[in-house]
Amino acid sequence: MTDTVRFRCNNCGRRFETEVLSEAEQREARLRDRPTFAVQCPECKRTDIRRGWE
Ligand SMILES: [Zn+2]
Repeated sequence: MTDTVRFRCNNCGRRFETEVLSEAEQREARLRDRPTFAVQCPECKRTDIRRGWE
């Protein structure tokens, strides 16, 4: 199960929505030493992003 989260790119300012692991699944992934966060900007491919559009 995933959550849809809004992100904004710090580089180009592009706003986008993407699906990420839910909180519980992030915990689970950490326990298993798997990567939990691999979201990148669809425009410039940077990972310098932050949550929220405000
Ligand atoms: Zn960008």
